[in-house]
This record gives sequence, C-alpha cells and structure tokens, in this order.
Amino acid sequence: MAESASFETEAPDIRAGRLNAAAYDQVFDDLHPPLTRHEAFVEADRCYFCYDAPCMNACPTGIDIPLFIRQIAADNPTGSAKTILAENILGGMCARVCPTETLCEQACVREAAEGKPVKIGLLQRYATDHLMAEDKHPFTRAAPTGKHVAVVGAGPAGLSAAHRLAQHGHEVTIFEARPKGGGLNEYGIAAYKTVDDFAQKELDFILKIGGITIEYDKALGRDISIEALKAGYDAVFLGMGLPEVNDLGLEGEDADGCIDAVDYIAALRQSDDLSALPVGRNVVVIGGGMTAIDIAIQIKLLGAENVTIAYRRGRESMNASAYEQELAQTHGAIIRHWLQPKALKHNAAGAICGIELEYTAQPNGKLTGTGETLTLPADQVFKAIGQSFDAHPLAGSGIGLAKGRISVDAERRTSVEGIWAGGDCVADGQDLTVASVQDGKLAAESIHRALMRIPDQIDGFAEAVLAGGISSPAEHLPQPDGSARPTAR
Ligand SMILES: Cc1cc2nc3c(=O)[nH]c(=O)nc-3n(C[C@H](O)[C@H](O)[C@H](O)COP(=O)(O)OP(=O)(O)OC[C@H]3O[C@@H](n4cnc5c(N)ncnc54)[C@H](O)[C@@H]3O)c2cc1C
Ligand code: SF4
Repeated sequence: MAESASFETEAPDIRAGRLNAAAYDQVFDDLHPPLTRHEAFVEADRCYFCYDAPCMNACPTGIDIPLFIRQIAADNPTGSAKTILAENILGGMCARVCPTETLCEQACVREAAEGKPVKIGLLQRYATDHLMAEDKHPFTRAAPTGKHVAVVGAGPAGLSAAHRLAQHGHEVTIFEARPKGGGLNEYGIAAYKTVDDFAQKELDFILKIGGITIEYDKALGRDISIEALKAGYDAVFLGMGLPEVNDLGLEGEDADGCIDAVDYIAALRQSDDLSALPVGRNVVVIGGGMTAIDIAIQIKLLGAENVTIAYRRGRESMNASAYEQELAQTHGAIIRHWLQPKALKHNAAGAICGIELEYTAQPNGKLTGTGETLTLPADQVFKAIGQSFDAHPLAGSGIGLAKGRISVDAERRTSVEGIWAGGDCVADGQDLTVASVQDGKLAAESIHRALMRIPDQIDGFAEAVLAGGISSPAEHLPQPDGSARPTAR
C-alpha cells in the first residue's frame, strides 16, 4: 500500500455497495462446507480410536471424540450427536467456530505423525447437523425439583448452564439485555463461520428441552438488580460476557471512521442488506486476536481494497492462531507486526483519514516504541484490541473480582453464596465459545448439587483442578440422569 501524506486533504472513501448486487448472495458463504455422508465415512475411517485419546483431553468440554467418530463410522450419526451434545449442548456451533487447530486437531496423533489430523470439527458438524435436521430434542428433563434458577445472559455460558439445569428438573429464567439470544454466536462470530441463521436455530434447539424462559431486553443493573435475583430465585448464574470494548487511548478516537470492530460485526451480523454497510477503500485494523482477523476478512470480502492488520508484537504472540492468520492473508489482508498505534490522522472535516504507527521492539522482554514511525492512509480504523467486563451491574453485591473480571473457584462459584458465574466474564478463562459452554455446564452441576444438597461426589475435585491434575474436568462428572459417562471402547 502506498504510504503518502496527500490523503490528509482528501475526503475519506467510504462507500456502501462496493460489490456487484449478485455478489452479496455468496459473499459470506460457509467457510468449510459440510462433509457429505461418503466423506464422513472416509474421514471417520482415518481415526485410530486411540486409548486415552489426546484429542479428547484437549477438548475443553471433554467430548468423547473417539466414541462419536466410531458411531459415525458405524452409520449412527444420531447416536454420535448424542455423545457430543451430552458434554456440549452447543456442539453444533462449536463444530463451526472452535479453533480446532489449537485444540483437538492439534492434539490428534495423526497431526503429530503426518501433519494431517482427523477432521474432528467437520465430523462433529456432520453428526450434530444430522440430529438437528431430525427436529427432535435428544434429552428429557428429570422430574421437577421445584427450584428456580436465574441466569443472566443468553450467550454460550448462560445457555449451557440453563440447559443442564433444566435437564436436572429445575426451572430457569434467563434475563438477556439484547432483543435476541445467543450472545456473540448471534452478534459476534464471523458471518462465514455461522451461515443460515444457525445461532437462532441452535437456540431454538436448546430451548426444546423445556423449562427455560428467556426475558429479552432485560438487563441486570438496568431492569433488574442482583438483590432482586438473590431474593427471588434459589440460585443465580452470571454469564454476561464482556460488553465493553477497549479503546486505543488516542486523541480524536470518537471521530467518524474510527470504529469498534465488535460493534461493526454486530451490525453486519444483524444486517438484512449487506450492500448498505459502509466500507472504506483503505482499512487499518489494530489488534492481533480473532476479532482483528474476523473484521479484516469480512471488510475485505465486502469490497475494501487495502486491508492492513497492525499488531504490536511478533507473529507468534498473536492470539489468532497461525491458521487464522493465514486465512486473513489468503483473503488479501496484510498483517504487519511490531507496530503500535501512535496517532490518528483527521482530515479538515474531522473524519479519520490515516493512522500513524510506531515500530516496536522487545529488547529485554519489555515492549517499547523505537521512535520510528510510518503513516498509513485509512478511511476506516477498526479497534480490535480486546473487550472488558462491566462490573457496574454487580455494584454493592460483594462479588469479588480478579483481573477486572468475576473471580470464581473450580466449580464456578463466586465469593457470594448462591451466585455462580462463567464464560468470558470470569477471570482466567480462555475467551472461547467452547470454554464458556464448559463453564456453564460445570456451574450448573455445582448449582444442582447445592440445591439438592447432594454431597460433593468428587473427592478432592477442586483441589485437583487447582493443582492442574485434572485436564478434563468433565470426565469426573456424572451424567445428568445419574448414569456413568459412556466409555469410548
Ligand atoms: C468478534 C468475535 C469473534 C469471535 N470468534 C470466535 C470464534 O471463532 N471461536 C470461538 O471459540 N470464540 C470466538 N469468540 C469468543 C466467543 O464468542 C466468546 O468466548 C463467547 O461468546 C463467550 O460466551 P459468554 O456466554 O461468556 O458471553 P457472550 O457470548 O458475550 O454472551 C453474554 C450475553 O450476556 C448478555 N448480557 C451482558 N450484560 C448483561 C446484563 N447486564 N444483563 C443481561 N444480559 C447481559 C449479552 O447481551 C450476551 O447475550 C469471538 C469473540 C468475538 C468478540
Ligand atoms: S487423537 Fe486423532 S486418531 Fe486418536 S482418537 Fe483422536 S481423532 Fe482419532
């Protein structure tokens, strides 16, 4: 991209409808088309059905991967989906969005041997799509317990907790601030990862268990208080995610053209008319995680000419996996490392027209600016440097925080009795859909034990997790109906 100063005198080139009208129909097609039945058999045949399977240990929800692959090989996709969904009720979405290249597929023995893992994510999608197409819910509820649990947030953590609680026979009311459920599955995940309104289809599927009511447009801290939830319900689960977006801390950041990537993606995901979205000719994205990659690819697909991702450290420090970085590059985005934002450039009308970036170095482990700069023209600058937790709704509750998020123990209990939390809003999480699902599940099991006064079934569980001795906590939990978990072989 040309680096010049003349752009400061020009009007920003931001336009809607950069593509031909027909192109919008396919612009966000499925990133990985689903496997056909034949392809699923061929892929399932590649699995060695390993004992103590490393792929299973790498899955945050502890899905019995060799078992579900074996069920596909035996032409039992419904049974396979049940194996998946028993551990991860959002297994359909996770099959689409999990960074499998850093989780199960990275751990697959065929990755180590041949650099070609079994396509676990696509097989998971094959099975779960099959079951969801049957339009039946695979689980039933236990007898009503008479207990009622409040869940805040209908994202992956809240939905996972609600489903497991409902399965145990409890009533659940979810309070959701937005008009639709699904959390970032609906408002944040890249459009090409979840096509055909899948987030809402999965939400409907989850609610089929029964016993779950969602109250939309009801925000904790605005329409309801934590005291009211504590007083009115037998237990409370907080799955509020990270509603705040981090700022760059630069002067003139509120100018037209300087945009929160998460807000733009939400607008894109909710848009009925992609041709109406404003798209710059020159775009700079600041950040190095999934959000940075997702906005860069999506804006490029919408017709931006030059898209540059600027990240302040080296390639290996990026939160986005090597696969995701490559995905951005193959879509035409340029990733430039060792650059941090220094100043936004505005034209005479006050709109963004460029950004000054400073080269960085890390001589003694500490990141510093070198003083050398470069300026890139930019009609749009996207901020994708992370999100943060909003603790205001918890004011006066006594809930302890750590690192700016809610502090929880291994069972996802907060410091206040009767209140649990999970997903992105808790400290030390992985900020992944699958990890949020696991948090919701663990919290629901803990709530169930507390409400039913079931003695701790797992001696030393919490201590073992804290000591790092349990890699897959799910394997130590019984199934909701009290039965033992199925064994792989
Ligand atoms: C742009 C982007 C792309 C991502 N891509 C991926 C990906 O490809 N793969 C992956 O694994 N992860 C991805 N992630 C991360 C993943 O989306 C999150 O880890 C996951 O959604 C967290 O789930 P959650 O339920 O904790 O929070 P959320 O999904 O954020 O859901 C929280 C819910 O709580 C509601 N809420 C918030 N405050 C209140 C309140 N006060 N009262 C009531 N309701 C409230 C919100 O409206 C929301 O519905 C991405 C994140 C972003 C931002
Ligand atoms: S590690 Fe790979 S080969 Fe082994 S069970 Fe898992 S998917 Fe199959």
